[in-house]
Amino acid sequence: MNETAALILLIEDDEQTRRFLKGSLSHKGWRIIEADNGKAGLAMIKNHNPDLVILDLGLPDMDGISVTKRLRQLSEIPVLILSARSQEQNKIMALDAGADDYLTKPFGSGELHARLQALLRRTRRTMPVSEVFVTGLLKVDLAQRKVFIADNEVRITPIEFRLLSILIRQAGLVVTHRQMLKEVWGAEHINDQHYLRIYMGQLRHKLEINPARPRYLMTDVGVGYRLAIDDVVTELAQ
Ligand code: CA
Repeated sequence: MNETAALILLIEDDEQTRRFLKGSLSHKGWRIIEADNGKAGLAMIKNHNPDLVILDLGLPDMDGISVTKRLRQLSEIPVLILSARSQEQNKIMALDAGADDYLTKPFGSGELHARLQALLRRTRRTMPVSEVFVTGLLKVDLAQRKVFIADNEVRITPIEFRLLSILIRQAGLVVTHRQMLKEVWGAEHINDQHYLRIYMGQLRHKLEINPARPRYLMTDVGVGYRLAIDDVVTELAQ
């Protein structure tokens, strides 16, 4: 898919936010279609097959979690949710229901474009088993299960490697505590957040120059973790 010609569906009832989004997105060359309620938005997904959806959590006819669930029955399309500060819990529920990332209102154009690019990039990427992931000084050979910082191999445990792989698969996007716990430890451990604190702390000590001010393994407070991908380069192993 050509990133610059991506078709983006806005599902948002607030006209001022829609106007801001339209201005900001069309400036980037993205094409835009709009709906001001959940039902109309779901119909547009079926009829227009957009590349990405920006979904407001506070809609007049349906809550954002129901829209996310219905949408996921129709399509694997990337979904960026917009939430107000008062919708913290709904935001997490929408992410666990299949939304891919979020922005908290108010947000700026820079943040918006970074999120959209991470989402569109992930859609375009295919993940061959030989893939090597590189960002900054961090290099992860996913096939060989090896991790390097500035070309020095770092020994990490199988659990640490799985956590890192999940973050790489969603590079640049948030992964909720619940998603990480479920995938690594199983559904019975989705509330055991202390597991994550311990293992992510260990990973930071191994991968970050200053674990207290991480450069790669970022915390989204109260939501989950995010692998920062400034200057991301993905290449195939030789
Ligand atoms: Ca709204």
